[in-house]
Amino acid sequence: MPDLGKIVVRIPPSPTGNLHIGTARTALFNYLFTKKHGGKVILRSEDTDTERSKKEFEENILEALEWLGIKYDGELVRQSERGEVYKKRLKTMLDNGSAYVSKEEPKEEGQRAEVIRFKNLNKKIAFDDLVRGQVEFDTTDLKDFVIAKSADEPLYHLAVVVDDAEFGVTHVIRGEDHISNTPRQILIQEALGFSRPVYAHIPLILATDRSKLSKRHGATAVTDYKERGYLPEAMVNYLALLGWNPGTDQEIFSMDELIEQFSLEKIQKGGAIFDEKKLDWVNKEHIKRLPPEVQKEMIFEKIKNEPYVLVVPDYSPENLIWRKSTKEETLKHLEEASKIIENGGNLMEYAERVGKGAVLWPVRYALTGAEASPDPFTILEFLGTEESLKRIKKAIIALKDEKQE
Ligand code: GLU
Repeated sequence: MPDLGKIVVRIPPSPTGNLHIGTARTALFNYLFTKKHGGKVILRSEDTDTERSKKEFEENILEALEWLGIKYDGELVRQSERGEVYKKRLKTMLDNGSAYVSKEEPKEEGQRAEVIRFKNLNKKIAFDDLVRGQVEFDTTDLKDFVIAKSADEPLYHLAVVVDDAEFGVTHVIRGEDHISNTPRQILIQEALGFSRPVYAHIPLILATDRSKLSKRHGATAVTDYKERGYLPEAMVNYLALLGWNPGTDQEIFSMDELIEQFSLEKIQKGGAIFDEKKLDWVNKEHIKRLPPEVQKEMIFEKIKNEPYVLVVPDYSPENLIWRKSTKEETLKHLEEASKIIENGGNLMEYAERVGKGAVLWPVRYALTGAEASPDPFTILEFLGTEESLKRIKKAIIALKDEKQE
């Protein structure tokens, strides 16, 4: 990689909702790229829409980024606190003739009689997008677009351009949905004499039916996944794979490995599919890599509210019999298991000797009454010896009472 000089990127979420998967993915790409090249990340709250921006969403965004391990440099920048800065730049534009006060004919109630428009020179703007290659726009179509409601009320595009320039942003990596904003922003940059950052517009995230990912497809906020118990490292790993891959077979990465291997050149052009099944697999792979004590703790945390933990299981005794076993054998194994557990013996050794399924299935089912649950050893440890023995004894009695068909 050539020396890119000092890299500065920005993560500019709008606090009008919880941190969305798509915004998090974009934030991650910015983070990975910058960390790889030793640059800086500016976090900017684009909170100029006073009606829709909420403190609680800003807090959610900060919480989610922290959970994911996406760090930023310096203080959080809030656009709502930078009105004076934008005003000053707007004045420059009015003074140098790149913007003008336009008398409007109000077409509807509440519409202003005056706004500030950009003086469009109607030229072609071309930029080299790191993902999409050469992109060209004829800005004539944009006409003299509005950049401020008044000299005191600059609008969004102006604020973005001013912030990007003032914070020395070198790379604008953002979702493809913003590509049509780029020519307007370049025009404003040129009018203010700012240098142009490098652009990379990354593909959108789609649902498995290839439509735009939205709430109807399930959880879209990063913190929903946090609450559902996903590991942050799994989430980061999975987000990184949404639109990027290293060109090898590797699919499981730590943050450090991602930083090392990430490159904007390897971002794909087509939409990326968000597939919860794949996320689940990535999550499992990350769990397997955790130390055994941590894994156990996680399982305990997960099962503590299971019905079989909260109430004594209610089940059909015939289900205690493993499919390749018999009632007599099952009774014998349960009695034996009971003795082994009571004496602190080695249940696994016994199971391996006489048949794993025939022993471990009835023990597990006696403890949980559930068709699916963690393995019997985990459950035994969770319930403790006394409770486990009680349940196994109850199962033995129930099975003995079971009428032969
Ligand atoms: N605030 C915009 C968003 O949340 C980001 C705009 C940008 O990256 O330029 O989509």
